[in-house]
Amino acid sequence: MLPMLIAIDGPAGAGKGTLAHYLAQIYYLDCLDTGLLYRAIAFKMKKKGKKSVDKEEAIEEASRLQADDLRNPSLRDEEIGKLASEVAIFPEVRALLLGFQQNFAKHPSPGMQGVVLDGRDIGLVVLPEAPCKIYVTASPEVRAMRRLKELHQKGINSIYEVILEDIKVRDARDWNRDVSPLRPAKGAFILDTSELEIDNVVEKACLFVDSIYPESRKGVSSLSE
Ligand code: C5P
Repeated sequence: MLPMLIAIDGPAGAGKGTLAHYLAQIYYLDCLDTGLLYRAIAFKMKKKGKKSVDKEEAIEEASRLQADDLRNPSLRDEEIGKLASEVAIFPEVRALLLGFQQNFAKHPSPGMQGVVLDGRDIGLVVLPEAPCKIYVTASPEVRAMRRLKELHQKGINSIYEVILEDIKVRDARDWNRDVSPLRPAKGAFILDTSELEIDNVVEKACLFVDSIYPESRKGVSSLSE
């Protein structure tokens, strides 16, 4: 049987990562948050003291990227996310990261049924052959409010209007870049999470996955586990 391939795309903060995490548990899948690849390059540039992104250096870092580079918790910082979206506009960087992502998808770990990748161009560029594509979205206002709460829980004080503005800037950059702009792939299941709690999001996504891969649920279907 062919390994399961699930492609999840959508804008920043729509809940792609959380959904991918649950699908990985429910269907026994290896999970790759592809934003981490762009963030890892951004992180290395920041470490070198760069305030803006230099194309040649970004290409060099992309060519040296190792799986271990993705394990750094600082990659989740807001500033790194912003820099990552600047790194992501270079076609040469995207081409180098494509191989990494496709290689991950080709080699699920023993015991796993396949892979789930989340990002911006998974359904259209990285895994266009994936039978199961999901496009997760939510209004910028809802995404900003979720982010505000998340930061608050971490003890970080932020201003809603600033986060909303950052989200809009990042959306515009992801939507308008020349290479691999963010778009739903043809046939993708569009999941607007603006009015949904996470358990409803997972439930709806699972119904769609089940329609493509019947009888594939293996792991927990309860979110509390
Ligand atoms: O998903 P995350 O917010 O971690 O991604 C950081 C940035 O990396 C995004 O704003 C986007 O510009 C870029 N990215 C991308 N393609 C992907 C994943 C992320 O261009 N597949």
